[in-house]
Amino acid sequence: MHHFAYKGGVLHAEDVSLDALASEVGTPFYCYSTATLERHYRVFAEAFADADALVCYSIKANSNIAVLRTLGALGSGMDVVSEGELRRAQTAGVPSERIVFSGVGKTREEMAFALKAGIYAFNVESEPELSALSEVATGLGATARVAVRVNPDIDPKTHRKISTGKAEDKFGVPYTRARELYAEAAALRGIQPCGIHMHIGSQITDLKPFGDAFALLKDLAEQLADDGISMEFVNFGGGLGVPYRGTNDVPPHPDEYARVVFDAAKDLGCKLLFEPGRMIAANAGILVSRVLYVKQGADKTFTVVDAAMNDLIRPTLYEAYHDIWPVAETLRESERTATDVVGPVCETGDYLALDRQLPSFSQGDLVAIMTAGAYGAVQSSTYNTRLLVPEVLVKGSDYEVVRPRPDYDDLIGREKIPNWL
Ligand SMILES: *Cc1c(COP(=O)(O)O)cnc(C)c1O
Repeated sequence: MHHFAYKGGVLHAEDVSLDALASEVGTPFYCYSTATLERHYRVFAEAFADADALVCYSIKANSNIAVLRTLGALGSGMDVVSEGELRRAQTAGVPSERIVFSGVGKTREEMAFALKAGIYAFNVESEPELSALSEVATGLGATARVAVRVNPDIDPKTHRKISTGKAEDKFGVPYTRARELYAEAAALRGIQPCGIHMHIGSQITDLKPFGDAFALLKDLAEQLADDGISMEFVNFGGGLGVPYRGTNDVPPHPDEYARVVFDAAKDLGCKLLFEPGRMIAANAGILVSRVLYVKQGADKTFTVVDAAMNDLIRPTLYEAYHDIWPVAETLRESERTATDVVGPVCETGDYLALDRQLPSFSQGDLVAIMTAGAYGAVQSSTYNTRLLVPEVLVKGSDYEVVRPRPDYDDLIGREKIPNWL
């Protein structure tokens, strides 16, 4: 469900014409819908309305501070994975007591920064990290509230690059070691073990891996209670998938996901934390691009657009599929032919779609690459010395460029020629 639809023959983001926006902002650009962000947050949060729950939106999916402010205003907390993301959450006005900090490689500087900010909890991913956190906290006279991230060795049945809960993945502490680590944590200075954390992967469309993982969480919480270490909260992570292929792949509704959570959590008496990222942001964003050339190759047609892998790397990094819609509705009815949609970057892996049945585009046509709101702009780069893609946030008939396109001086001007040259 999203708020990108045709009105008067032109694709709109809510009440803003993307044709008009493209003329105003130039292409390519990302466009986000406030109504969609809000709707997704609410659907997720409402699934847990009857529980003591905190939804910590996973910032890395889309970290624009306008997006964070939009979600923070609805009561969302944040899941951060770096000091930079924590600073973004702060800039967006999200209270520290709604922030959790994940990641396998937190530096001592980052730990100190987060402790001084007074975040809700750290998701600790290893024994050496726990020792470092203990030292940093003790040095500051602070106490770090800690959830150990447990790796349950469960296959989430998703793309291998976004699986995080198998034994061979770098994330978390092996399930079999967890109980011991909690005992150590309880004895460490500056550490207060108060939660359990798990995040088994992303774009998960099957509820079974969640159910299997959450059953282990429940068992661990009960074992820890037997050991005299009571848990204040259980953090179920994120990972719920989204429909990248329109209505052809429908992931579980948050209500169905919630039933799996409640199955595991009902007797624990703990606060419930969640870290959805993709599920909130993916369908709330599109990448708008213009057709530069239609090129006949020896065997196929290439539609060359002005957006490239540096703007949206998901197709080449994750073999991801994104629907592509024409901005002009009349093109929808035109005859479809197979084409590769490619960008200007000098890499064979620079494509947005391969062998896709699409309307016959012509030079100058606008296209919308759908479901690009999560892991899109955040992974963009300036490869090939291309300007970083701008981001626009729409609300009703209003819009704002929430990250402007830099100029070439911003891009090249900070580099230096040493005085020996
Ligand atoms: C990336 C990440 C998430 C968000 O995952 P989604 O699939 O986007 O919901 C949640 N928790 C942690 C620890 C993460 O690294």
